Amino acid sequence: MRVVVSAWLREPRHLFALFIGVAALVAAAFAWLSWRVIEQDRALDRQRLIERRDADGAAALNSLQGTLLDILDQVAAGTPPSDDAVLAVFSAAGVEAFPRSRLLYYPSPPPAREPPAELFAAADTLEFNDAARALEALAAPARSTDAAVRAGALLRIGRIQRKVGRYDEALRAYEQLAGIEGIRVGGEPVDLAARHIVCQILAKRRDKARLARETEQLRKDLRSGRWQLSKPVYSLYANWLNTADPKGEAWAAAVATLWSDWPNVREVKGWSRVSHLWIDNQPVLVFKNATPGRLMAYIARPAFLEKRWRGTLTDDSGRVLLGSASGAPDTIRLPVASGLPWTLHLSPSNNEISSAGSAQRRWLIIVGLALIGLFAAAATYFVARVVAREFALARLQSDFVSAVSHEFRTPLTTIRQLTEMLHKRRVPDEAKRDEYYDLLGRESERLQRLVEDLLDFRRMEAGAIEFSFEPLDPAGLLRGVVADFQQRAGPEGYHVELTAASDVPPIRGDRASLRRAVWNLLENALKYSPGCRTIWVELGEHAKQVAIRVRDQGIGIPLNEQASVLKKFVRGREAKSANIPGTGLGLAMVHQIVRSHGGRVEVRSRPGEGSTFTLLLPALD
Ligand code: ADP
Repeated sequence: MRVVVSAWLREPRHLFALFIGVAALVAAAFAWLSWRVIEQDRALDRQRLIERRDADGAAALNSLQGTLLDILDQVAAGTPPSDDAVLAVFSAAGVEAFPRSRLLYYPSPPPAREPPAELFAAADTLEFNDAARALEALAAPARSTDAAVRAGALLRIGRIQRKVGRYDEALRAYEQLAGIEGIRVGGEPVDLAARHIVCQILAKRRDKARLARETEQLRKDLRSGRWQLSKPVYSLYANWLNTADPKGEAWAAAVATLWSDWPNVREVKGWSRVSHLWIDNQPVLVFKNATPGRLMAYIARPAFLEKRWRGTLTDDSGRVLLGSASGAPDTIRLPVASGLPWTLHLSPSNNEISSAGSAQRRWLIIVGLALIGLFAAAATYFVARVVAREFALARLQSDFVSAVSHEFRTPLTTIRQLTEMLHKRRVPDEAKRDEYYDLLGRESERLQRLVEDLLDFRRMEAGAIEFSFEPLDPAGLLRGVVADFQQRAGPEGYHVELTAASDVPPIRGDRASLRRAVWNLLENALKYSPGCRTIWVELGEHAKQVAIRVRDQGIGIPLNEQASVLKKFVRGREAKSANIPGTGLGLAMVHQIVRSHGGRVEVRSRPGEGSTFTLLLPALD
């Protein structure tokens, strides 16, 4: 990546800016597109949710209305409800309840016969003066076949016996009285009153076991609705027996409310047939069916409806009648929409499940888009890399062309000037003429070498050069090259020092090309060592490889250039800025030659201290 960026940064900067710009634009477009896709998906989800809530709401309302109609049908048919409700039938005769046991007290207890008081006027007068005679007078009516007469007599016998302290006799009278049904005194059933007094006598006599049995039985009978009591009588006994039945009491209270309203109710139609009451802060549902002179109603606990329909209902002040209104705001059907007296709420649980599903889908979209983005980024990176490389190569080639032109221009200028002088015979003497011819020869030789170098490199790169490999003595080869180079560099004051280890093994190689490789290294050492005029050539053996080392104490190569100097056309920054002649092909040629021999080139250098180039060639064994 660093290579790419630095390559981009080097040359046409606007291209780099353009690349960044386009990449940013693509990224922004991509992000925008992703955002739009997700937003649309969300909107679609919301829409779907609304539609589904609407459908769910309609379905729930339908099923509720169906359930309510079923219940109202049952009310109209007078079917006693199975559980959690009581059927109350209101008529001019009073209230009836089905099942009877579910109504603990009645707003208007049914009329019942009372013992005829005038029959007992004489006995009542005697009771205070002569208890024995009073009892005598009561003996006959106590055996009467008329239950009301019998009850009146037994009531008085019990009272007198109790007063005079004959509890056994009193108990017997009250026990008999407890067996008489349907007779009331002052609206209170005589059997209930008798059983109450029996319990009081048992308490006085401390007959705990029997007292417990009697009170338990009485409690049961009271709760079974056996007597159709008025509310005050029921409360009296319930308090005394310390018993409470909130469910039955709520129904009884609701029946009382309905009873007091009933005379005002003209007709009950449509959804006004369903309603509710609040009794002791507990909701009671009412399902009515009114016919002239008669009102039938189910008085029900919410559980009654809950068993047939699941959902939440609230009244117009938001109090919960059914279900639970906790949790998130949900779909609502108001009374104006449904016609029902209640607001219908739908539980949001389904919605949550669906939103989990869509979150998962959105994640998939994000991951998919991210993957596409990643591919796009990778593709952009690779394209950028290729383009950067092309740029680098183009730059190298143009550098190369200008370097080669420069290399050509110098000898050509010299040749042109000398030829002109010789031609115009402007040479002072014979010695000068010889020197000019000599120079002409050297310059054209330099030109020829340059052209041949270029052609050779081209051929080498194309693999068109044929090497003639033969066993070679590396020491002999080096001695030859060094001697020749010394001849060329000696006049410029350079000295080459050759150190060869003894018994270095022979190598297999092409003499001419290996000579050229070493020569190129020596040429470079000379070119790039303006200060130190000694060049060291060493021959040694290392791990079955013959090492030819050319060392100088010249300008050196910076670390970041060391890896690339072996590539074609590459010239060091220092070489270019100091105008040292060269084409960037010398080391590339050395590299090619050594590779063709199965070896490699190592570069070690420090700027300002010098460079060492080592050719490692396989030894011949
Ligand atoms: P050139 O024609 O530029 O010398 P080369 O391929 O021979 O081409 O060398 C490539 C580059 O390596 C040179 O431009 C120079 O920067 C660096 N170089 C090569 N040899 C030496 C050396 N002995 N000392 C310092 N730099 C060197």
